[in-house]
Amino acid sequence: MHGAVVLVPFDDLDPRILHPVAAGVLEVFGLPATVAEPLPSPLEGLEAARGQYRAAAFLPLLAARFPEARRAVGVTPVDLFEPGLNFVFGLAERPGRAAVVSVARLVHPDGRRFLARVMKETHHELGHTFGLDHCPEPTCVMRFSNSVEEVDAKGRFFCPRCRAKLEAALEVF
Ligand SMILES: [Zn+2]
Ligand SMILES: [Zn+2]
Repeated sequence: MHGAVVLVPFDDLDPRILHPVAAGVLEVFGLPATVAEPLPSPLEGLEAARGQYRAAAFLPLLAARFPEARRAVGVTPVDLFEPGLNFVFGLAERPGRAAVVSVARLVHPDGRRFLARVMKETHHELGHTFGLDHCPEPTCVMRFSNSVEEVDAKGRFFCPRCRAKLEAALEVF
């Protein structure tokens, strides 16, 4: 039995990090979240020449694998890209049920810093699944991050405007 949101570790990602992430999803979205068994990153997404996976390859896999979940968010240790971009921190159906986050560029020797980054990117991609776009507010979790410094600079919460959009989307959720 899965919660409204299922967090899916990929490959050798330590699933224990996803328990505080699940607590953060409950705190910020008001949605119960559970942690699934690990899955292998989809080989069809691997671009061996660049040593990266295409982020979009994860989304249909997650949607199909967890049909009972309202949202399925994969968290993978592999580095992700999308055509035209050197890398992406994550990708989501906008709106939709599936999202993926890569921790490859979020790693930090301080475990709390690492966890904060994973939580922010998870909230950000989940926000996209509820139809939210990028936000210019410096501290809003929906602010676009092009570097890990920009991830550190923003918060894990929604600004009032994004919060209102999220609440409206959650009502019809
Ligand atoms: Zn985004
Ligand atoms: Zn915002």
